Amino acid sequence: DTQKETLGFQTEVKQLLNLMIHSLYSNKEIFLRELISNASDASEKLRFEALHNDALYEGNPDLDIRIEFDKNAGTVSIEDRGIGMNRQDVIEHLGTIAKSGTASFLSNLTGDQAKDSQLIGQFGVGFYSAFIVAERVDVYTRRAGEPAENGVHWSSAGEGEFTVGSINKTTRGTRIVLKLKEGEEEFADGWRLRSLVRKYSDHISIPVKMLKEEQPAEEGEEQTEQKAELESVNSATALWTRSKSDLTDEEYQEFYKHISHDFADALTWSHNKVEGNLEYTSLLYVPENAPYDLWNREAPRGLKLYVQRVFIMDQADQFLPLYLRFIKGVVDSNNLSLNVSREILQKDPNVDKLRSALTKRVLDMLSKLAKNDADKYAKFWTTFGQVIKEGPAEDYANRDKILKLLRFASTHSGNAEQNVSLEDYVTRMKEGQKKIYYIVADSFNTAKNSPHLEIFRKKEIEVLLLSERIDEWMMGQLFDFDGHSFQDITKGELDLGETESEEDKKKLEEVAKEHEGLVERLNKVLADRVDSIRITHRLTESPACLVIGDYDMGLQMRRIMEAAGQ
Ligand code: ADP
Ligand code: MG
Repeated sequence: DTQKETLGFQTEVKQLLNLMIHSLYSNKEIFLRELISNASDASEKLRFEALHNDALYEGNPDLDIRIEFDKNAGTVSIEDRGIGMNRQDVIEHLGTIAKSGTASFLSNLTGDQAKDSQLIGQFGVGFYSAFIVAERVDVYTRRAGEPAENGVHWSSAGEGEFTVGSINKTTRGTRIVLKLKEGEEEFADGWRLRSLVRKYSDHISIPVKMLKEEQPAEEGEEQTEQKAELESVNSATALWTRSKSDLTDEEYQEFYKHISHDFADALTWSHNKVEGNLEYTSLLYVPENAPYDLWNREAPRGLKLYVQRVFIMDQADQFLPLYLRFIKGVVDSNNLSLNVSREILQKDPNVDKLRSALTKRVLDMLSKLAKNDADKYAKFWTTFGQVIKEGPAEDYANRDKILKLLRFASTHSGNAEQNVSLEDYVTRMKEGQKKIYYIVADSFNTAKNSPHLEIFRKKEIEVLLLSERIDEWMMGQLFDFDGHSFQDITKGELDLGETESEEDKKKLEEVAKEHEGLVERLNKVLADRVDSIRITHRLTESPACLVIGDYDMGLQMRRIMEAAGQ
């Protein structure tokens, strides 16, 4: 190499490398999936850029991924004809981690292998997973369209440093050579590699090729000679274009891992082909685990966008609302032009149509999950329920559907688990009950033990018990469900509808009369502390409680505002 320099990995990379090698060791074979996934991404990026600039193909538009091995040397190589990298790309992408929130993510790692491997999985293991099995990784790459002498050689033993040098590289794209660690030679084996490609990368739409077994690769053999003997190992059709009946759950799950960079399986998915005015294929997944950056507003989100099977962009966030930001997947449409850019997407009316169609798909998938698999839905709710709670305010058009997805703790079971739907609540409403009652407090126990519940207990009227930060705000956005309005039981006059008998009302009037004098005196004494004091039937055991005006801010909201310095 010429112009060789030695550089240090970013601190986060060093940390990640150590942890990854340690915690992903039992899953070491996934390195091949990650490298093929990158080769496929790079090929799709080239295809996209070449739409505007055919010269990038350099006269050879064939895109394939080649895997070779050398048993004697203990090496495995993965080579693509994709977009490639220049020197700056290499230093940036293979020396740092650009993801936002990386440092805080790493600080969450515990050293506990099982926990960490899950977390790292959600973070996305990527290129560095090569070091699980390799003692040295060499990357030879050249960016498409640049001259041969702009080739770059990156090399590292994964121990804090890497070198970059300049090389001559006639073929565009990237070749990655792994020198296997002692004890990992099993991967320099045709049968093993083939079975890994089929297991993890069958859905990759670029052909993954290997030499036919009868004629194993010779060290230093010429590319041109090998070409004739190459065969495709994967089926090389974009998975979402295949029909549902052809696909197994395993294939769907592997595809999920490829597009999501998740390490764990998806919880469920929905695959649809739609023809007509609006033509699209979508494959949408609900992850099982929340990503580490679910609450980071800047975190990348969105779908992988294809137009007529050509990859256009990652993280196209125009196709789903924010409250469905955890959904991963692919949308492939014939209604968009191959020239779309993010700017054009913002103005294209087809995007709005797709967005509303895909939003419905996701909501339908979730309600189906709720109906068919209570355990999985409970898991979903625990993981993403708080995000869904943003939905009623963000998506007015689908409010009814979203409301049916909500789950609450309630006085019905009396435990903290959020498993009561509004539909459940309505079927249990008492004769004459018009409203859906709820209380919001700082914690489940505070809600559950509130004196405001006394009258409801007595009358056996169910009350929803809310205690998440977003709850008070959300309840203010709900208005009604199935014709029933929502009532915060700590606010204003309590109207129990027709559940109150004439007798009750009379009794209350009598009591009020009896204590007129007391109420008058209390109102005078506490005049500047409270709005008013009145006789109530809210309480059956406690002598008094604080009530907030109908249009006043709730207690929780007040605390949030106070904390914000308002
Ligand atoms: P991710 O794939 O999630 O972006 P990786 O760690 O797998 O993360 O890869 C890091 C980056 O390195 C990629 O985003 C890409 O820019 C670059 N890269 C990796 N492999 C290749 C390749 N074969 N060709 C071109 N660029 C690559
Ligand atoms: Mg990757």
